[in-house]
Amino acid sequence: MKLNAVLLAAGTGDRFGGPKQLAPLLGRPVLAHALSDILSLEAVAQVAIVVPPGTREAYEEAIGPAILARADRARIRWADGGMTRRDSVLAGLRAISGAGPDSVVLVHDAARPYVSARVVDDLLAALGRRAGMEPEADGAVPVLPVADTLRWRDEPGGPDRASVLRVQTPQAFVLDRLEAAHAWGEHHPDVAASRTDDAGLVEAAGGRIAQVAGDARAEKITRPEDLAVAAVRLRGAPGRPTLDVGDRRGGDRTGFGLDHHRLAAGRPLWLCGIEVPADEGLEGHSDGDVALHAVINAMLGAIGAPDIGTFFPPDDPALAGIASATMTRKALREVTARGFEPIHAQVVLTAQRPRLKPHVPAMVQSLSRLLGLSETAVAVHATTGEGLFKGAIEAHAIVSVCRTAPCPGNQGVN
Ligand code: MG
Repeated sequence: MKLNAVLLAAGTGDRFGGPKQLAPLLGRPVLAHALSDILSLEAVAQVAIVVPPGTREAYEEAIGPAILARADRARIRWADGGMTRRDSVLAGLRAISGAGPDSVVLVHDAARPYVSARVVDDLLAALGRRAGMEPEADGAVPVLPVADTLRWRDEPGGPDRASVLRVQTPQAFVLDRLEAAHAWGEHHPDVAASRTDDAGLVEAAGGRIAQVAGDARAEKITRPEDLAVAAVRLRGAPGRPTLDVGDRRGGDRTGFGLDHHRLAAGRPLWLCGIEVPADEGLEGHSDGDVALHAVINAMLGAIGAPDIGTFFPPDDPALAGIASATMTRKALREVTARGFEPIHAQVVLTAQRPRLKPHVPAMVQSLSRLLGLSETAVAVHATTGEGLFKGAIEAHAIVSVCRTAPCPGNQGVN
């Protein structure tokens, strides 16, 4: 089945005070939410993003290379919006190439920061695009019930709220029916202008529209205060953070650590919490595990804490010979106490001798256990250093952490 999409992001945001599709929401612009959801639907071949004329570069930059790269740029088309919503939809349809007349097109408003895969599935089913189903309609729309009592503006009373529904997007249409409706609208401009969505236009032109259950997470953002509500609704939705990732006070962070220790005869060689068979070990007040020291510094750096020497003073006699694994656990408790947990760690070791490559899998296993990570979230690389590190071993490390609890003192804000 051929499926394409038009993402309408050409609005000027008069009620919002600027283009709301570019306002930040959970760490990315509003329109990137819907775009990313649409691109995650494998059936969608092309997405036409309709933006204000002359703003394509700005929108590309706002969406960010991460989303565009992951999404396979080849699926994205750009179109300049027109004076009216109808003009913008037509511009989007024209930007999609090679779509057959009986293909399906989704039309979505970028101010709705969520596209539910379940809703799209139901829309396609309503159009008979699922095996064994009879086509019910020319188009289909997601709808939600109305909770408030309704009144007429200029006369007493109002409609029964059970008899009315709120209409969302994405709306799905058989392509040639939508094109025919727009062509009809060209000749009936007054009627067309009174229809505020594509489903209304298709019906005005004589088509049939089916209804499926909508999704509250796709509520439209109209005013600035809607962003905070949307952030709460979307937290934990597919592809969204469960916490405040992206908030400038919280979110993911990465720390960097570096350490060197001299090699010395007669000492065991500890690296990443395992003993590596060797003729020499590393000097140090502790067991000399240079890799874990770099990891500890990276963890402490990620949470904005001072370095390892502050937590484990090298002149503290109580720490003589301490296992670096114990130090790592203590540093990890500090990370947890500050409301973070590790999500990734990488160590790069430079050692002329001994040869470390054969011990890398055991080091990865040990480090992943110490940090509570899966082995796929831990990397240990070993290099010889071209003869520059004959008497020592050097370790570089990065550790990324994510927020698991609100910042102390910022509860309710963060
Ligand atoms: Mg050290």
